[in-house]
Amino acid sequence: MTEPLNEPEQAGFEESLEELYEQAPCGYVSTRPDGTFARVNQTFLTWTGYGRAELLGARRFQDLLTGGGRIFYETHMLPLLSLQGRVQELAFEIVCQDGRRLPVFLNSVQKRDPAGAAVLIRTTIVDASERRAYEREIQAARRAAEEALQVRDHFMSRAAHELRTPLTALMGNIELLQRRAARDQAFPARDLGTLQRAIDQVNRLSAIVHSLLDVSRIQSGQLVVELAPLDLCALIRRIVAEYQAALVDRQVVLDCAPPSALIRGDALRLEQAFLNLLHNASHYSAPPAPISVAIRALAGQVCVDIADQGIGIPASAIPHLFQRFYRADNALAQRIGGLGIGLYMARQIIDLHGGSIAVASSERQGSTFTVCLPAAPPA
Ligand code: ADP
Repeated sequence: MTEPLNEPEQAGFEESLEELYEQAPCGYVSTRPDGTFARVNQTFLTWTGYGRAELLGARRFQDLLTGGGRIFYETHMLPLLSLQGRVQELAFEIVCQDGRRLPVFLNSVQKRDPAGAAVLIRTTIVDASERRAYEREIQAARRAAEEALQVRDHFMSRAAHELRTPLTALMGNIELLQRRAARDQAFPARDLGTLQRAIDQVNRLSAIVHSLLDVSRIQSGQLVVELAPLDLCALIRRIVAEYQAALVDRQVVLDCAPPSALIRGDALRLEQAFLNLLHNASHYSAPPAPISVAIRALAGQVCVDIADQGIGIPASAIPHLFQRFYRADNALAQRIGGLGIGLYMARQIIDLHGGSIAVASSERQGSTFTVCLPAAPPA
């Protein structure tokens, strides 16, 4: 069977091998074991501006490298080449005839005689200018994105600090009015209701401001927990009872298997984390579906499951869920409000306790968040 012809031969012309070598889209260089040029192609000469006579037998390949490149060539590339017989994709800069630096990638193979002694190094040289420019662009874009994030975080922290003072003053004034109204009994019931709604809204605002301040604390490494012995069962019972009191249209079902579960924790911060999970369970599911909370004691750990029968979380969102400001697509699509801070905070708080937080969820079926904390060693 005859070999199939290459395309140019089929088309009726033969490509000259010499031309193929000389005009290849990459540089070809053959050097003796000491680096002296033995052969170069025209592409390499065009790129670097050297004449053939300036290189062949007159210069060594490493003479065309920068200082650092020359050291790398001698201490890394040559030993690797004699060990493996080939090297690939090594980045260098070639100093051209006019002093310009040409970024390149080298692929070299070592040719040996039958006795195994190196006789020649054949090197293919690829112009990396475009790739380097592209890498520089990516780096610049990354720097710009990081700077934008810094500006955002800085602004958020400043805004939260600036909002705190007027909010405290506003709250003080509304509460004063409320006390006066109660004392003088001069306000109609309708205005008392308006006052109470104003207090609720200011409380919501200050909860948001506190969350933003907590985020800045985490970023500056200032979020700390004060660990003390506490009974997680008692804490969760209290949190659930208080939360239930504010829920009119659904049940929070608590299953607390162990009578008590001692851990070392910061009660205030843990309350913040668990309240957040409870709030999410009710925020992302519709009444009257119940929310269930179960406490289990495992080997050396106490775990709390908080489960809902709500919108669930898309699988693609799970890896990002605990990142700050992240919100899953289904929550956004259904226009359910939120800042994407709660789970980030919960994760940080649980981490500071040496615990873990995980989620199992199916879309339109519901989600279960599980927090595990190390049990306190027996006294
Ligand atoms: P927020 O609820 O304010 O957006 P979180 O950090 O508490 O912020 O939650 C981040 C995202 O995780 C939410 O926006 C939502 O997409 C998703 N999520 C959290 N808890 C639940 C839940 N119980 N059910 C469905 N999605 C949830």
